[in-house]
Amino acid sequence: MTRKILPILLILLIHFGYAQKTVDKIPDLKSDNELQVDGLVQPILNDFLKLCSKYNIAYHEKLFKLKVIAVVDTIGITPNGGTLGMLVRNENKDVEKIIFSWVTLLDKEILKVVAFHEFGHYFLGYKHICNDCNKIMATQNTSYFDIISDWDSQVDNLFRDSPEYRKTMHGFAYITH
Ligand SMILES: [Zn+2]
Repeated sequence: MTRKILPILLILLIHFGYAQKTVDKIPDLKSDNELQVDGLVQPILNDFLKLCSKYNIAYHEKLFKLKVIAVVDTIGITPNGGTLGMLVRNENKDVEKIIFSWVTLLDKEILKVVAFHEFGHYFLGYKHICNDCNKIMATQNTSYFDIISDWDSQVDNLFRDSPEYRKTMHGFAYITH
């Protein structure tokens, strides 16, 4: 049954967007500064943060600024595509939520790619690196399978090429050419 749905998924876009006030259904916990992470996303987040440590990328400060990481049913999907994940900003333009469409749950590998994509924006300082080039930080991906089948090297490139990693590598040195 999943296989029948997958061709539809392949045309869905990952989109980096700004939600206004359209995320009412996301549970907003009253206890401030407590990050709520969806149980389905938690292991993926744990893997990502371990990799941040491995590549010497600081993440604690950003992590503590987040309030919610969740899978929601409030992101619109149309037959022509849709958004699978996004960062949600508050009035001060600070990211406070990272949300994923329920559509990502149809295949846990897709949730993993979309989650790493959104975490790449937030923790690694990425903008999109291409329109559709079979990389985690592409604007859209017509084949998630290519990324998943080459996962370890995809992730290594994701971290090594990231703005945050480059910062730690170059420090304050001047590059003169
Ligand atoms: Zn994006």
